[in-house]
Amino acid sequence: MLLPYITFFFLMLRTFRSLDTVNVHQNISDGETIVSGNGKFELGFFSPGSSKNRYLGIWFMNTSSQTLAWVANRETPLIDNSGVVKFDNQGKLLLVNSNGKVIWSSNSSASSTNTNLVAQLLDTGNLVVKKENKTSDEDFIWQSFDYPGDTYLPGMKLGKNFITGRETYLTSWRSADDPSSGEYTLRFSMVNDKYQQLYIIKSSTIETRIGPYNGISFSGRPQSTPVPAILTYVIDMVVNQNEMYFTTVLIGKDPTFMSRTIVTSNGKLEVSHLIPQNREWMSVSTVPVDYCDNYGVCGPYGSCNIAISPYCGCLKGFEQKTSNETSLENNTSVCRRSIALDCGPEEGFHKYSSMKLPDTENAVYSRNMSLRDCELACKNNCSCTAYANPNITTGGVGCLLWYGELIDVRVYPINGQDLYVRLAASELLELHSSINRKKRVVMVVTLSISVVLVLLGLILALHIRRKWKKSSRSSKQMGSAEVPLIGLSKISRATNDFSVDNKLGEGGFGPVYKGVLDGGQEIAVKRLSKSSGQGLDEFKNEVICIAKLQHRNLVKLLGYCIQGDEKMLIYEYMSNKSLDSFLFADESRKSILDWSQRFQIIQGIARGLLYLHQDSRLKVVHRDLKAGNILLDHFMRPKISDFGLARMFKEDENEANTKRVVGTLGYIPPEYAVNGLYSVKSDIFSFGVLVLEIVGGKKNRGFVHEDHDDNLLGHAWRLYKENKSLDLIDECIRASYSPSEVLRSIHVALLCVQQRVEDRPDTPTVVAMLGSEGPLPCPKKPAFFIHESENNSSSIPLLSSSVNEITFSQVDCR
Ligand code: AMP
Repeated sequence: MLLPYITFFFLMLRTFRSLDTVNVHQNISDGETIVSGNGKFELGFFSPGSSKNRYLGIWFMNTSSQTLAWVANRETPLIDNSGVVKFDNQGKLLLVNSNGKVIWSSNSSASSTNTNLVAQLLDTGNLVVKKENKTSDEDFIWQSFDYPGDTYLPGMKLGKNFITGRETYLTSWRSADDPSSGEYTLRFSMVNDKYQQLYIIKSSTIETRIGPYNGISFSGRPQSTPVPAILTYVIDMVVNQNEMYFTTVLIGKDPTFMSRTIVTSNGKLEVSHLIPQNREWMSVSTVPVDYCDNYGVCGPYGSCNIAISPYCGCLKGFEQKTSNETSLENNTSVCRRSIALDCGPEEGFHKYSSMKLPDTENAVYSRNMSLRDCELACKNNCSCTAYANPNITTGGVGCLLWYGELIDVRVYPINGQDLYVRLAASELLELHSSINRKKRVVMVVTLSISVVLVLLGLILALHIRRKWKKSSRSSKQMGSAEVPLIGLSKISRATNDFSVDNKLGEGGFGPVYKGVLDGGQEIAVKRLSKSSGQGLDEFKNEVICIAKLQHRNLVKLLGYCIQGDEKMLIYEYMSNKSLDSFLFADESRKSILDWSQRFQIIQGIARGLLYLHQDSRLKVVHRDLKAGNILLDHFMRPKISDFGLARMFKEDENEANTKRVVGTLGYIPPEYAVNGLYSVKSDIFSFGVLVLEIVGGKKNRGFVHEDHDDNLLGHAWRLYKENKSLDLIDECIRASYSPSEVLRSIHVALLCVQQRVEDRPDTPTVVAMLGSEGPLPCPKKPAFFIHESENNSSSIPLLSSSVNEITFSQVDCR
């Protein structure tokens, strides 16, 4: 029975990182980690910030800097690397130091048999102790989600179990270097029959009230409702006899979406999402935000409004009575009722809109009461000061009745809630007549404004009509483009309303978003930004040009959208994005592309060019071929993209001239940069540069070498002449390259970047040369620029560039 475990144990030591589970016979030592099945979380030992102390913890994987989600021994650090995690014979997880002293324990205990116990790091970031075959959280013997630190993860429950008395809440770290409990906690009010609300508490004083739950979110966080967070997760609040908790459930389609909520060591509640592009956290909501978020800052019956000065005022029916002591000591005033209530039948309520509801510690909640019944209940009880429906969901019922002081009320510009405050009859009368007076004034003003507005409306309508005509003219022009027009609402739905989480990158055209159409097809949406240098002409050019072309090495345009000011291009989604994101990245990313993949990419681009230049219905010169415009699909197959600058040639036309030279420095040939002459041979030149970049893993522009000032072309030429071309290759492909293929690629590239247009091979010859092993013509010295200014690598007009030749003595062709 023991033998398989021992064998497994030794296997484990070598393959630890890929496993998410350890069993009772296995240990985790400092230096070893276990990884959740989805690769999002890792458990192991770490030292926070500049501290040397060691802690056992769970962190997010693949983030730009280590981000902790949970710490086991936050109060009892290890002072060296001797920590070991193991099970004891009662099924507890123990963290022991070199002396065998228990530093931390999971305080769980399993009944009778514990031989099949395991500790597993789940995909949610929850470390659980359970019997091997159990999966439900009811079966967990222990789970880290019950003992959170400063971080809330989706799926965790914050609240209280009324039967066991255990409360689950967040506690801040002391500092970035010290995960021990800091001063701040995030917890619910814990009185069973009260309407639950969240507080940030410092020691035992309430600092900020996040507010009561309103059916969607918390009323003290109105900026987070209803979007964008709601698109990716929903909040659930459960209150019953046995327990009360709040939890969030991820509902977004994106499996890579990650979110965390922390209470910081300076007392802020911060919700952030991970941006997939740069693996950094983006804060989407923070509380407290402003002065009015300080708990009860305007005192009882006071109301805080950050939009007016002074921020504090009294609710209607109350007035400021500055008491000497308070004004001197605290610089505050107290709101008192102007006219005492007599509980007569004429008393009533004044409705406030867009408010943060008062602290519910003084309130009683009835789950099923309508707003009308709520009003009656409040009216019939003389000590009831206010009422409200806390539930803002459509058709949501429920009644909160406040007895006594109304504390921590504030006005929100949007998304607040309705609050009804009790007023004396005379006050109500006065309020209503002043409202009526105001109404009359408003009516006169409104009437005059209406006349002006009608006139303005007419002018606006004429303007819109003119714009609409222009845009439908553009649409009609595109109508012949053989790709479908797609509605804005469909694209908006597919991209989560152009959410930042969906953003793939930004090019000269504007931002690019990932989307999923209703049928499940993945798309990339290029949205023409209003500030884009590339305008409507490039947009039309791209649609008309690429719509007529179809080849496996050209990116496929699936549709376009023109609606109002919006112009968008919809492409098939290329999951590996652009070639430059691999070639010019760090070692680990560069090495993803081994030589055989790079050679296939070179050949694929050449085939794409051949189609553009010769095989398609049109003769197209791309004019902006570069690593950033080669997209890679799931299998790393290259697709040429970005036809905004492309030009169509008639069949017998070979060369054209332009006054506006466009392209990208480092990729354009001299005859184009200087004289504005372009032809298929301009693309051949760019292709040559691209091949040298693919082989060398370095950019032509910005290339530096300690021995000379040449760019990559000059360097490749020097090495070629010295018969040392293989020295050009990217260090990352040293282990995988084929010398003959590399030498052939460099040779063909040097032929493509020759100074004289007529010396450069045509596209069929390039494809043939790459695919054969026959002899090649000798390249002449390349055209290349030196000492270019370094500040631009995007597509730009270029007429002012100059060509500096460097003369080398020719070598014989080998
Ligand atoms: P561009 O405007 O073509 O320069 O695109 C900007 C960035 O968006 C590129 O570098 C890619 O990372 C990304 N991108 C553009 N088109 C696609 C696509 N079809 N699929 C995936 N990513 C894309």
